[in-house]
Amino acid sequence: MMQIYRPLNQIGFVYREIRQGLADIEAMFILLDQNPEIEDKPDANQLEISGPVLSFEDVYFHYDPDRPILKGVSFEVPAGKTIAVVGPSGAGKSTISRLIYRFYDVISGRVAIDGQDVRDVTQASLRAAIGMVPQDTVLFNDTIAYNIRYGRPDATDEEVREAARMAQIGDFIDSLPNGYETQVGERGLKLSGGEKQRVAIARTILKAPPILILDEATSALDTHTEREIQSALDTVARGRTTLVIAHRLSTVVDADEIIVLRDGVIAERGRHNELLASNGLYAQMWNRQREAAEASERLRAAQEDP
Ligand code: ATP
Repeated sequence: MMQIYRPLNQIGFVYREIRQGLADIEAMFILLDQNPEIEDKPDANQLEISGPVLSFEDVYFHYDPDRPILKGVSFEVPAGKTIAVVGPSGAGKSTISRLIYRFYDVISGRVAIDGQDVRDVTQASLRAAIGMVPQDTVLFNDTIAYNIRYGRPDATDEEVREAARMAQIGDFIDSLPNGYETQVGERGLKLSGGEKQRVAIARTILKAPPILILDEATSALDTHTEREIQSALDTVARGRTTLVIAHRLSTVVDADEIIVLRDGVIAERGRHNELLASNGLYAQMWNRQREAAEASERLRAAQEDP
């Protein structure tokens, strides 16, 4: 009986935690993706950030010892710059964001922020410093205003509106009969993937973290939505130390450095034009995506104007 009771009790606990509302969306994300093996050291310090440099130093990582995922990955995101990670599906791109957020610990090497190993600081201070716009945003069953204000619970109505406007979702919210008081989520208005992502961006704009991780949605978006989201992401990334886990190469053209991950190592790195000129994996991926985008645009045009 106890064997059944314990997991049920745990589910009840997790459910209650979610219902009670957590400090922010990342907390929800943590709860769903929780790894109980990750604990603060007894002497863990608060993360202190003066120049938010993010670094991966010879990082090795696997989920399963038989399948290495990262094999000696080193790179740095200088303060205020944007670095993009690209690579084939399954290359380990999202794993990089999970290691920064400390959902998992590295096997060897280290991940550091402003020179402090993420394993030496409290998880609360680490997560307070990082804003994450995940691939799939989970919204709370509450109003749009509540969902945005999660980024900073003491934000004024005006600040919530300003964040929504900067995230390119303000006009959409104003067009709803109940505006910011519209209920969203399972029992309310269903938002599209792109709309939900813009709500997450608005929330992150309010939180104003020194470090940003943008994990792009893999799902295809239409060109118009993609442009709107891109513009919202550019706004939130401006002046922040930003790592973009990119699935659509159109979003990385302006990155300060692009890292191409393949088979657990950095296969190529450089700016967009340099990588195109070197005609390697990045150039192949770029050409393939451009052809696919052109083909889908032609198809769309033919459907609209038969
Ligand atoms: P995509 O572009 O498809 O999102 P990605 O490059 O972001 O892929 P990751 O999500 O980092 O890839 O995953 C890298 C590899 O690790 C994949 O082969 C995946 O199956 C595996 N993997 C991811 N999460 C886990 C996990 N929790 N346990 C075991 N293996 C995992």
